[in-house]
This record gives sequence, C-alpha cells and structure tokens, in this order.
Amino acid sequence: MKALITGISGQDGSFLAELLLAKGYEVHGIVRRSELENPDTSLQNLKEVINQITLHPASIEAYPSMFQIVQRVKPEECYHLAASSFVSYSFDDEFSIFNSNVNGTHYILSILKEIAPLCKFYFAGSSELFGRASSYPQNENTPFHPRSAYGITKATGYYLTCNYRDNYGLFGCNGIAYNHESTRRGHEFVTRKIVRGAVQIKLGLTHELVLGNLDAKRDWGYAPDYVKAMWLMLQQDQPDDYVIATGILHSVRECCEIAFSSMGLNYEEHVKVDPKFFRPAEEVPLVGDSSKAHEKLNWKPEKSFREMIEEMVECDIAEISSGR
Ligand code: GDP
Repeated sequence: MKALITGISGQDGSFLAELLLAKGYEVHGIVRRSELENPDTSLQNLKEVINQITLHPASIEAYPSMFQIVQRVKPEECYHLAASSFVSYSFDDEFSIFNSNVNGTHYILSILKEIAPLCKFYFAGSSELFGRASSYPQNENTPFHPRSAYGITKATGYYLTCNYRDNYGLFGCNGIAYNHESTRRGHEFVTRKIVRGAVQIKLGLTHELVLGNLDAKRDWGYAPDYVKAMWLMLQQDQPDDYVIATGILHSVRECCEIAFSSMGLNYEEHVKVDPKFFRPAEEVPLVGDSSKAHEKLNWKPEKSFREMIEEMVECDIAEISSGR
C-alpha cells in the first residue's frame, strides 16, 4: 500500500507515518522546502522514521507541484492533514489561512479526481466546524456554526470532500476530530504551554506561568489514538464522516493541577491569569459524541487525559534537561 500524507511533519502526520510504516505501507509526505533546509528543527517529529519515508518538497497551494507529486507517487490513500491550524478567534491573517486551507484542499481533491480517482482520501476536519454549537454533545448530525477563519476553512474542506464523494464517486472521508494532544503538540496550544511551563518551574528556570481562562474546557484526546481512527475510516467498504472525540470535558485548571502535582508542585502558587489570553467562552461546550466511530470503526480512545499529561511532563523533563 502506498500513502501520501500532507502535513507529515506535524503532530498527527508524524504519528500517522509511524502507524502506516508499522502496517507495511510505503509512506510519502509533503513538506515545505524550508523544512527540508532545517531538518533538525522542522523535521524533529519524524526523526525516528526519516530514513523510511520519502519526503517531497511542495506548497499545497501550488497546484502544478502537487499534481506532479501525485502523478509520481500514485498514492492509494491520501491523508490531507496540512493546514494553518492555530485557532485564534480573530481574523488575523485570514487571507493566507483561506488560501492554504481552502485552495490546498480543493487542489488535492481536483488532482485526485483527474489522475488518481481510486485513491482514498481523508480530510482532517475539526470540532471548530461546530464553533458556536447549538447543542452538546455534538455528533455527525449537529449543525455547523464555525466562529473563526480556521473553522470556516474546515467547513469548506468538509463540504468539498462530501461533494467530490457525491458527485465524482471519490472515496472521501471527513474526520471531525476534537482537540488532540501529545508530546509533539505545538507550544502555542494550552496543554503543551502548561506542561512546558510547569517543567521549567520545576527545574528552576522560571517562576510563573501566565495563562488565560482557567475554567475553559475542552474535550482533549490523545493524538496517537486519533490517527488510528483516520486509518480505520479508509479501511471501510464505504466512505463516511465521523466525529472523533473522547466525550469527556476537562478544564485548563485540571490540566494545571495534573501537570504541576505530578512533579510535587501546587499550581496555585505559580499560575497567573492575564486577560490578554482570554477568548470568548463557549456558551455550549465543545464535546463530541463518537458513538458512530465506536459502532462502525470499532474505535475508542485508549489513553486517559491524566496519563497523557503525565507522559507530556516526562517528555518535557527529558527534553529541557538535555538542553532542547
Ligand atoms: P483550541 O483553541 O481549542 O484550538 O486549543 P488551545 O490549546 O489553544 O486552547 C484550549 C483552551 O484553553 C481554549 O478554551 C483557550 O481559551 C484556553 N486557554 C486558557 N489559557 C490559555 C493560554 O494561555 N493559551 C492558549 N492557547 N489557550 C488558553
């Protein structure tokens, strides 16, 4: 089996590459040329598997380059994970987010239709499709109400995938994944920010951690569990859309409590709140109902929130102590 992963150097892309390699796939990935020029930093997530995969430099916004890569690789499965992914509920930089997320997805779908119509396609949708949700928990039938440029682009990608499936018979699946974290999570996301801050405090490198709303809640899962769901979707007889979530809400405060107490610290002595990190709170919480994935894919999340945060703490202790 041959797979092509866009966004292979990111958290999900790198876990998915490892999963597919373990299943005997030939794995190809798309990275930006600048990432190939700085492999020590940009390709850190792929360090274990870099010699077992083929990387192709291209921008997903460049149709001709993407066309050539698909023509050369002839993938049987394509996982489209590349996107500008940080949700700040503003429209900062909206034009470049729209360009890469909407055009990038549209180009890939159109290229597959032209030259690899039997290739199965996974689109990385997001709980941000629901945004200002009308009800909870959300499932595949809950109306979308995106509230950010990112959410709008994910809704567009979702509908593009549905339309290529309905109109052209492409085997396209949307995964509507809720937040998922790991030791490879970017530092701007709150779980990693908390873990890193707590470890730096433990090691005496700093004294405080400044956060936004401690009572904000999320349905946080474990990224390696979520990439299994992506793969399972493409192994079914029929393409379909699935919510991927744990169904459990945890607060930012709970995350602090777990991270700090795992190293014998009291978060209340170190965490400061600054309104500059506040975002408008959800009136209806974003929490997913993944019963369809459970029934049809036999998928369920395996690692608990506590186990995940503790694993992230251990990893950051090792990383920071060794000077990385
Ligand atoms: P996302 O917003 O769901 O994509 O993920 P984040 O990890 O960035 O944020 C998760 C939640 O943590 C949101 O409800 C934020 O409002 C809340 N939060 C509280 N303090 C912070 C902070 O200092 N940084 C970030 N990124 N989020 C914070």
